[in-house]
Amino acid sequence: MQAAPRLIRAGSRFGVRHARPMMASQIRLNSTTAAPKKSFSKWAMTKAIVKYGLVGSVAYGIYAMYEQRHPEPQQELDPSKKTIVVLGSGWASTSFLKAIDTTHYNVVVVSPRNYFLFTPLLPSCTVGTIDVRSLVEPVRFITRHKAREVKVYEAECTNVDPERKMLTIKDSSEVKGASAESEIPYDYLVVGIGAQNATFGIKGVEEYGCFLKEVWDAQKIRSKLMDCIETAAFPGQSPEEVDRLLHMVVVGGGPTGVEYAAELHDFLVDDLSSWYPELAGKIKITLVEALPNVLPAFSKQLIDYTESTFKEQNISLHTKTMVKEVHEKDIVVKRPDGSLDTIPYGLLVWATGNTARPLVRNLMAKYPEVQNIRRGLAVDDWLRMKGPEDIFALGDASATHYAPTAQVAAQQGKYLARVFSMLANQEVLEQEIKEAATPEERAKKERKLAKAKDIKPFEYTHQGSLCYIGSDKAIADLPFGPGNVASGGVATYAFWRSAYISNLFSSRNRTLVITDWLKKTILGRDISRE
Ligand code: FAD
Ligand code: NAD
Repeated sequence: MQAAPRLIRAGSRFGVRHARPMMASQIRLNSTTAAPKKSFSKWAMTKAIVKYGLVGSVAYGIYAMYEQRHPEPQQELDPSKKTIVVLGSGWASTSFLKAIDTTHYNVVVVSPRNYFLFTPLLPSCTVGTIDVRSLVEPVRFITRHKAREVKVYEAECTNVDPERKMLTIKDSSEVKGASAESEIPYDYLVVGIGAQNATFGIKGVEEYGCFLKEVWDAQKIRSKLMDCIETAAFPGQSPEEVDRLLHMVVVGGGPTGVEYAAELHDFLVDDLSSWYPELAGKIKITLVEALPNVLPAFSKQLIDYTESTFKEQNISLHTKTMVKEVHEKDIVVKRPDGSLDTIPYGLLVWATGNTARPLVRNLMAKYPEVQNIRRGLAVDDWLRMKGPEDIFALGDASATHYAPTAQVAAQQGKYLARVFSMLANQEVLEQEIKEAATPEERAKKERKLAKAKDIKPFEYTHQGSLCYIGSDKAIADLPFGPGNVASGGVATYAFWRSAYISNLFSSRNRTLVITDWLKKTILGRDISRE
């Protein structure tokens, strides 16, 4: 009975230890177990968050994929609603399709390819880092989930008649039925047909060069690359012929050309050197650029970083060098001193940017007074094509002061879908004003209509530029406050990967791309020629 008060009175640790050794050890034990208990609970909490977070995201992913595979029944097309025809299934048109509210409109899609292609990772497909199937999303995976049925025609639009509001569409695929050309009407037309590869009329480019824009371009490059290497291994080739066949030339030092050269370098170092030990050392990569440096849109230190990385990777850079002519086995270039030179090649990848498609040029020619920008369709701040009524142009098909990028196209598509919702809202309000029972109700609706008519012009938000430069390094120019932050290296590559994964349109594509990256890391790239 006395011990307890004594202990309490003792107060100090030492006093306790002397007074009751057993109690002291107990206290020590308690105090030593108390600390780990605290950190254990923190650790347990972290573990629980990670565990439930993981379970939650896996469950969400499975649910999203289940939902994707089981579309709900849709409303039928409504003849009383206006029809929007969307041309194309690229960045601009697809982001428009995703965002458009089909309860207000009938929507028809016309595109010669029945899928969306995630272009930023296309250079990875040229060497088999990623499978092209992982980057495509069928249009119907999107349209089948809209509230109202959306018609999809795998066809090319060959003519627009703005007077009659009529389009001519043509089945340009291999298999054709009895009907391969047709006319379809529109109330509103959204032109998102992108651009085509610029050749500047240089002789031989179309015939001998490989472009890098579409799925089949990446497949052709891959096949031709492997063909060059296998042909170089054929018995009896002269040393000059082996050197030519193993010389891969890229024309254009914009992001497409740089990313392709980078992917090719990785393929050479990671895979070809193992499977073609006798030839790999002879494979050369050359990049030809007309301007004084590559990647003119990036900041100076990133340009320098890219050029020095290419030097380390033995990628020859020929800047201030303009290709003048392309032959079957060599290109003619104009050197900085004005002299002409010949460069033999096995594979030629042509990446010199964009020019307007024939349909765009044809449409522009109908309004020569207002359509005079060669790059594409001139539009106002609301993306309405200058000239005709009710035609809108988005993405690379339009000529704005923005660069022709996926970021711009996607933001424009989303914006235009919002504009259409506001237009539908205006029509509803106009009808309600006509039917208003009292002057007060009418005035209220009129105020709402005035608000609905105040449609803000399109404004682009730049989220930064990224580019892969090989050897697991990327560069990034990211907006930060009034300026921007430039970064390059392996950490930027991790950021590059996560940015592209999060930008992929569906969980399905995300899963496929991550699997491809894992497959490449574990098994290496496939070298068989398709
Ligand atoms: P596209 O995406 O080209 O789509 C055009 C659509 O129109 C296609 O579906 C086509 O089949 C269809 N079409 C063509 N002709 C007709 C016709 N007559 N009738 C009907 N439909 C037609 N931008 C970035 O911001 N970041 C990047 O990392 C990036 N990487 C890129 C990598 C590569 C290899 C390439 C080539 C481009 C890259 N870009 C990138 C640019 C970006 O891909 C384009 O700016 C973007 O695709 C433009 O979108 P769009 O919808 O206007 O055209
Ligand atoms: P680009 O227009 O950006 O670059 C083409 C390059 O080719 C130019 O630098 C030009 O000087 C050069 N060139 C033109 N004619 C030539 C000739 N005869 N000889 C030698 N060089 C010549 O084209 P791109 O790289 O295909 O890009 C097109 C668009 O897509 C751009 O807006 C680009 O920003 C975007 N893109 C972005 C990314 C990315 O962000 N990672 C990747 C690819 C494309």
